[in-house]
Amino acid sequence: CGIVGVLGTQPAAPVILDALKRLEYRGYDSAGIATLVNGGIDRRRAVGKLTALDAVLQANPLGGTAGIGHTRWATHGPASENNAHPHVTDKVALVHNGIIENFRELRAELEADGVTFTSETDTEIVAHLITQAMKAGASAVDAASQTLSRLEGAFALCILFHGEEDLMIGARKGSPLAIGYGNGEMYLGSDAFALAPMTNRVAFLEEGDWTVVQRGGVTIYDAQGKEVERPVKITDASA
Ligand code: GLU
Repeated sequence: CGIVGVLGTQPAAPVILDALKRLEYRGYDSAGIATLVNGGIDRRRAVGKLTALDAVLQANPLGGTAGIGHTRWATHGPASENNAHPHVTDKVALVHNGIIENFRELRAELEADGVTFTSETDTEIVAHLITQAMKAGASAVDAASQTLSRLEGAFALCILFHGEEDLMIGARKGSPLAIGYGNGEMYLGSDAFALAPMTNRVAFLEEGDWTVVQRGGVTIYDAQGKEVERPVKITDASA
């Protein structure tokens, strides 16, 4: 339901938690954050309100300056810690808004390849598809691009990669996603309001766009894979 991604210079988890609080108005049943710590993916999730996730983080803090967070409004699989996002493999962590309509076929294909699932969500197939492509030799960017072309439905995605401290991929098809431009920091968010405490310079992905984000800047591709520019607007969403 709500997405936040940060490639920062300060600890990311507190920034993400604050941004998720600004998305609470959308409604949600669970929440989670994953960060990269020395290149490895670390994650905390909790059912219920963000105060529950906050308590988990207080007891067991998450380091790292790159991270993604999510507030989930369950569509596939009940509200549970296992179904809460981010979904992770040994290669990726990702958060997703919306619905992957063809997830049943894709899940059956992955299970036939020996992949084990840990949730009942439509989302988890995306993490495994990217992972399988990377294990077959694709780069992170190529694996994401190949996977996006196989997904049907409405979604926004934000993806981090094991060992890639300066890379975040976002995609928009039917669910909004905005890029926030900081000073040596970059953000993704499901709306500009979520990003307002970090930056008021925001570009909105258009339908079918996906983006490769690094701290130094972004590259945006349209649905045909052509590199495109999207205007950076100064928002008036107040912090
Ligand atoms: N379909 C996904 C799930 O059920 C994402 C739901 C959402 O947009 O929060 O986990």
